[in-house]
Amino acid sequence: MQIENVDVLIIGAGPSGSVAAGYLQQQGLHIKVVEKQKFPRVVVGESLIPRVMDHFEEAGLLDALNSYGFEKKLGARFIRGAEQCVFDFSEKFGQGWDWTWQIPRADFDQAMADELIRKGVDIQFETEVIDVEFKGTESTTVVKNKEGQEYAIHAKFLIDCSGYGRVLPRKLGLEAPSKLDPHSAIFTHIQDVRRPEGIEGTQISFDIIETEVWLWVIPFSNGSTSVGIVGPTAYIENLSATLDNDEAIQNAIGLSDLYVNRFQGLPYAFDPIRLTNYSVSVSQFYGDGYALTGNSTEFLDPVFSSGVCFATESGILAAKLAKRQLAGEVIDWEKEYADYMKFGIDVFSTYVKEWYTGNLQELFYHRPENPEVKEKICAVLAGYVWNKDNTFVSKHRNIIKNMAYLIKQQD
Ligand code: FAD
Repeated sequence: MQIENVDVLIIGAGPSGSVAAGYLQQQGLHIKVVEKQKFPRVVVGESLIPRVMDHFEEAGLLDALNSYGFEKKLGARFIRGAEQCVFDFSEKFGQGWDWTWQIPRADFDQAMADELIRKGVDIQFETEVIDVEFKGTESTTVVKNKEGQEYAIHAKFLIDCSGYGRVLPRKLGLEAPSKLDPHSAIFTHIQDVRRPEGIEGTQISFDIIETEVWLWVIPFSNGSTSVGIVGPTAYIENLSATLDNDEAIQNAIGLSDLYVNRFQGLPYAFDPIRLTNYSVSVSQFYGDGYALTGNSTEFLDPVFSSGVCFATESGILAAKLAKRQLAGEVIDWEKEYADYMKFGIDVFSTYVKEWYTGNLQELFYHRPENPEVKEKICAVLAGYVWNKDNTFVSKHRNIIKNMAYLIKQQD
């Protein structure tokens, strides 16, 4: 079998693989990306949060991405009946980007890949990893291309950015159940021909139907809007048990007073996709000669749009550590990688759990608003979840629960 040699092999060309590749290419390493699918391909994960801009910048992708005219995202709106809670990222606590994009991922991931290829990165599309063997820290990965030919890639380090493909978690038995309750979603893109002018038309919104059930509305600059319904798996199964996914989305739109007139009856860009029990986890984040990133490690929940941010945070960090290791440094992967990533995941995990208990919603809709609370929560929603000066980060375990309790006592 033909064998190719590289410093770092990256599996998957989603956001985590792309930033890892961008960073390592700039460092002059010999890298290769193998991607199972043909691009552009539909994938969920369309509402970004500002922290990702740091990663795209470090990966050398920001200027190129900026030239595509993707819709700017300046904040997010959470709607509950007649109540609204609007976060503006420019009003967040601490430093950091105060805007990002809301993007059709097919186009966005294609844009990243095009820029990487322009810079000389070798990306092989329609090339699927079918086996990996390790010898110490070195690995041999067998891939199959679209012609059905198999060949091997020998790498000094392997970064698994395969998302739900979860190549190494499956191969090495690292899959672990999520600690979150099972939730599912159905989504599609709608030709948004009745889009209102101005901010009402372009604002990313989350419309709460019930405490645990919400609709996402993510307008794109191409005139279409992503609409998805999220809820406990039993709720989504019930919604789609007697109806097909098309009707289930129509039904979900019908539950939203604000959006029913805008979206009902409009054509879809593709058949609605159902994602069942989407939360996943792993028992370890790294091993000899490899690191897992993005959805290949942990995915929590879409409610605060943290997925791509964790993918790029872990992708760029894994790439930096791999580079240092290949330069001869001894890396404490537990401390520098796993502990760091787990801290951020832990913070967001609390926010997700407290969203679904309803406690966080108490804080969002309590009036009058407390500006200090709001700017600190806003920083978390912007993805700055490693800033321990923010008490809504450092005390995340109790602060939401305790404040919700006090609010309920007052009411
Ligand atoms: P991916 O983007 O999935 O990329 C992985 C790539 O690896 C794929 O292109 C795949 O083809 C390739 N691959 C897989 N197996 C193989 C193989 N064997 N060989 C070669 N290549 C392979 N995140 C947000 O930030 N904002 C949101 O609004 C948001 N909404 C979401 C809504 C839902 C319902 C769900 C379930 C998730 C949502 N997410 C959101 C999460 C987001 O989709 C992911 O966190 C993000 O795409 C992960 O990026 P990644 O690079 O890890 O993986």
